[in-house]
Amino acid sequence: MKSQLSTRLEAHGIRPTAIRLLVLDALGTDGRAYSLSELEAKLSTVDKSSVFRALTLFSANALVHCIEDSRGQTRYAPCHDECRCHEGTGDMADFHPHFECERCARVWCLRSEHLPVVELPEGFRPRFASYVVKGLCPQCKAHRRLPKRPL
Ligand SMILES: [Zn+2]
Ligand SMILES: [Zn+2]
Ligand SMILES: [Zn+2]
Repeated sequence: MKSQLSTRLEAHGIRPTAIRLLVLDALGTDGRAYSLSELEAKLSTVDKSSVFRALTLFSANALVHCIEDSRGQTRYAPCHDECRCHEGTGDMADFHPHFECERCARVWCLRSEHLPVVELPEGFRPRFASYVVKGLCPQCKAHRRLPKRPL
């Protein structure tokens, strides 16, 4: 039986190995962008350098895109079908913004949004653009409203 995960890897020219399948599975489909340490925590049985190597390969083969969070950590997010962030068309509308929660520090892709197009001077070509909206995620927002527990 061929899993959906192997099909996704093969569609990007990546040979499915047990570790690559585990890493891709850990990246999930819920629109989160994970830091290396978050992924390592989810993949405690996998050697850390193998996780990093798989992510580097995924990024080089347009299966994930990388963004930097406000702590300067790289975060990896699986590219979705409409993601053209690797195509280098030079079109700012190919990039989507991200959301960073200031309380739990988790990051999400805002996949259905497009970055505002910035007109660049003649001769300049964009490779990547990052737009991060900061605030509270639904969980942290709800948690914040809870009354303090009595001692
Ligand atoms: Zn992408
Ligand atoms: Zn949060
Ligand atoms: Zn993203």
